[in-house]
Amino acid sequence: MSDDFKIVQGSCPSCGSSDGELILDALHDVENNIQGDYAISRCRACRLYYLSTRPDEASLPACYDQNYHVRFNRSLTPLRRALFNARYAGRLRRLRRHCGGKVPSSMLEIGCGDGSMLIYLEQVLPPSVELAGVELDASHIALPAASRIRLYEADFDRLDLDRRFDVVLMYHVLEHFAHPVENLSRICSLLNPGGLLLVQVPNWDAWWRKAFPRHWNGLQIPRHQLFLQPPTLEDLCLRSGFRTVKISGLIDPGDFAVSVCNWLTNRLRLKTLPRQAWFYMPMVILGGGVAAITNLVSDRAGELEAVARPAG
Ligand SMILES: [Zn+2]
Repeated sequence: MSDDFKIVQGSCPSCGSSDGELILDALHDVENNIQGDYAISRCRACRLYYLSTRPDEASLPACYDQNYHVRFNRSLTPLRRALFNARYAGRLRRLRRHCGGKVPSSMLEIGCGDGSMLIYLEQVLPPSVELAGVELDASHIALPAASRIRLYEADFDRLDLDRRFDVVLMYHVLEHFAHPVENLSRICSLLNPGGLLLVQVPNWDAWWRKAFPRHWNGLQIPRHQLFLQPPTLEDLCLRSGFRTVKISGLIDPGDFAVSVCNWLTNRLRLKTLPRQAWFYMPMVILGGGVAAITNLVSDRAGELEAVARPAG
């Protein structure tokens, strides 16, 4: 890690208040072993949980090194690829429902990772649907030959987009943003009339967060800057200019699987990364069933989905 890597005390990323109640300290990166001790606080003004002891903004890119899981998704086994595609099919079914059964004519995915969701959409949607993605480092994205996906390799903060979209997608991205209100406000202005933003994030109220307070999948410290609950996710969208926000809880097999793998690899002091351990896939398969049961008996789902629509 470079000598320029700095850890600072920060204020609430949503409302800017520096009046925070310390919730958890001495937190470490249990997935990728990025250096440092970090802390989570809760804003007394807007109630948001956020990373209060955190890397400064210039140091954030260094937190996504070669061990970051999105970078090795491209070399997935056929079983893992099939499970990912099943997840994408579920996401598309939900999106169609939110769009009243119609297929939107243009979609932008912000933080498209290894591009696999967009590649899936390209395979199953009519060729008339325009698809675009934004990713800070696109070197790990391999689009098929003659793909129609428009890829912007850029920091969304600095990306100058001169067009609008029917749908903007953000799967497990919002929680990484250091300036969520500014970013969501820009997204609001990128939507066509009648368009929508679909966001999925880990749910701070998840049952498995309570079971694994320092190894929970949704922590991803120091990469996650925000830890959202239904009211704070809604507040963030409304604060950014969206008129209506609908929030629901979703089953997330990874919430159980990654949390257990984080705990086991750290407890057993294994050298392997939690998502590359031999017990990861069995835990994901087990996690699907476990998450379905915990969702039935409580409303503490692993994942939240927000559908936000601008005025008009
Ligand atoms: Zn706040």
